[in-house]
Amino acid sequence: MSMIHVTLPDGTVNEYAAGITCAEVITDAMGKKHGCLAAKVNGTEYDMSHVLDENCSVEGIRSDSDEGIHILRHSAAHLLAQAVMELYPDALPTIGPAIDRGFYYDFAMEPIAESDLKAIEKKMKELARRNFTVERVELSEEDLREHFIDNPYKIEIIDDKLEDGDGSTIYKQGEWYDLCLGPHVPNTSRLMFIKLTSVSPAYWRGDQDREQLVRIYGLVEPTKDALRETLHRMEEAKKRDHRKLGKDLQLFHIDEEVGQGLILWTPRGAVIRQELQDFISHHLRRQGYKQVFTPHIGKLDLYRKSGHFPYYQESQYPPLVERDLMKKLADEGCTCGELSNLMRTGEIEGYMLKPMNCPHHIKIYASQSRSYRNLPLRLAEFGTVYRWEQSGEISGMTRVRGFTQDDAHLFVTEDQIAEEVLGCIELVQIIFDKLGMSDYRVRVGLRDPDSDKYVGDPARWDKAEEACRAAAASLGVPWAEEEGEAAFYGPKIDFVVKDVIGREWQLGTVQVDYNLPERFDLTYMGSDGEHHRPVMIHRAPFGSMERFCGVLIEHFAGKFPTWLTPTQCHIITLGERHEAYATKVAHALREHDIRVEVDATDAHIKKKIKTYRKLQPASCFEGT
Ligand SMILES: [Zn+2]
Ligand SMILES: [Zn+2]
Repeated sequence: MSMIHVTLPDGTVNEYAAGITCAEVITDAMGKKHGCLAAKVNGTEYDMSHVLDENCSVEGIRSDSDEGIHILRHSAAHLLAQAVMELYPDALPTIGPAIDRGFYYDFAMEPIAESDLKAIEKKMKELARRNFTVERVELSEEDLREHFIDNPYKIEIIDDKLEDGDGSTIYKQGEWYDLCLGPHVPNTSRLMFIKLTSVSPAYWRGDQDREQLVRIYGLVEPTKDALRETLHRMEEAKKRDHRKLGKDLQLFHIDEEVGQGLILWTPRGAVIRQELQDFISHHLRRQGYKQVFTPHIGKLDLYRKSGHFPYYQESQYPPLVERDLMKKLADEGCTCGELSNLMRTGEIEGYMLKPMNCPHHIKIYASQSRSYRNLPLRLAEFGTVYRWEQSGEISGMTRVRGFTQDDAHLFVTEDQIAEEVLGCIELVQIIFDKLGMSDYRVRVGLRDPDSDKYVGDPARWDKAEEACRAAAASLGVPWAEEEGEAAFYGPKIDFVVKDVIGREWQLGTVQVDYNLPERFDLTYMGSDGEHHRPVMIHRAPFGSMERFCGVLIEHFAGKFPTWLTPTQCHIITLGERHEAYATKVAHALREHDIRVEVDATDAHIKKKIKTYRKLQPASCFEGT
């Protein structure tokens, strides 16, 4: 019998007879209660049943690791499909991946209701308890096609993914099987802690022109406690949902007649936005920024030059064409397709809702000749931009079609990059501190050393990357470099904030840019009397006011600190005879810049208290 050497994560090398499985090696090394549900062999994921017949390294994948959770989720998707097939024999399973928060599976079947999920979940638990072994079976292409002969969706996947003559694998549990590469849990009893959460329509391959399917979403966790915790967090997230709170607290409104994804800031929400703007404007002045204002539209030519058009036109509102030109073209019999072509090629002129503020700020820079003595020039604007998000992706304040960035562009010399990046980062930190967002991490996006897609001189890149690294390191929070995550025009720094219930939000960014100054041929006169190219830094600490406020509503669960809250004081009256005095007190408070409202209605005092309690931070009512 031949022997093999297996290296374990701690460096130990054990000798085993060839033919041993991962499960046996891991049990031998870690004992029976190893808590692993799959293994990595030489760094690649395999099932526990995978047979080892050469020297290799083996590492167990625990169910609570990122990789383990992924396998658990994907396995639960299989279990879901098995349960659905038992309850709805005519349904056809299509695809069922693990996702960020759980898993889903798409079925070609008659629509089902949320109330049907209970029975499916019950069936899943029953199948889990029956503890089927999950088995990997390799099949030839012919056998594969035979197995899925009644399922055109799986056949389409086989047609797409497999080279002619190649076989693949299926995973089998009981009588049920699915086309899959794995790996999976060793048996279904690992999938006891599941919860189906929702059902929604979906399209085959995400294509609205293809078949409509039924998508079932679910959650799975390795233990009962972990599942309870996840459900609690979801419950909490629901309570904090800014779309619901925004409505309850009258902070913003979205009106179908105005348009999807277009936020109407109502008076109470506008207070929050204004307070945030005032707060940041104070720090901008302190840091030497200059305020500018620019229009909401610009000529197509401008965006051709900046590169935003036509390349990103999918994510922009269609261009505006001048009325006379439009009429002339129509009279000439120009079709819509021709019109769109003419715009793309630049044969006709038009305007566009601005997708970015940068080109406008660049034109302000270029409006005068600049010398090294004028730099850095820091131009700031709360600038509103418009993007065409797909209607399916629009959500509350966090995914919208029009939003106002707390934008700024810094025009700097090469030598000023490091210090200015540091200044940008300081600003982000001040904001996070003020708002009690203490749990955040920083990502530094660097270029991929093996790619040549980047514009600008490598030595300058090295310097800018070093500046970003140093700035990130200076924050004293976790940070990571991510190679290949830079834009083609420069390295960047992203801030990812974790909220009280553990969700991550990508907020502010700082971005170095070598490209736009080149495209617009920006220059400054150096101390040597020569023309030099400035570097641009784009930065938006909040990102957008809409998104940031959405995140803030959830962060504070609608109970804003006093400086931000729309009404800082409600004066409520018991009866008519108090009204005059209440009004007098309100005036006095307003004199001191306190946001105050008087409620002199006839409503019962208890009802009034209840109403305003909902609108104020909890701490305001302690002791009442
Ligand atoms: Zn699978
Ligand atoms: Zn910009």
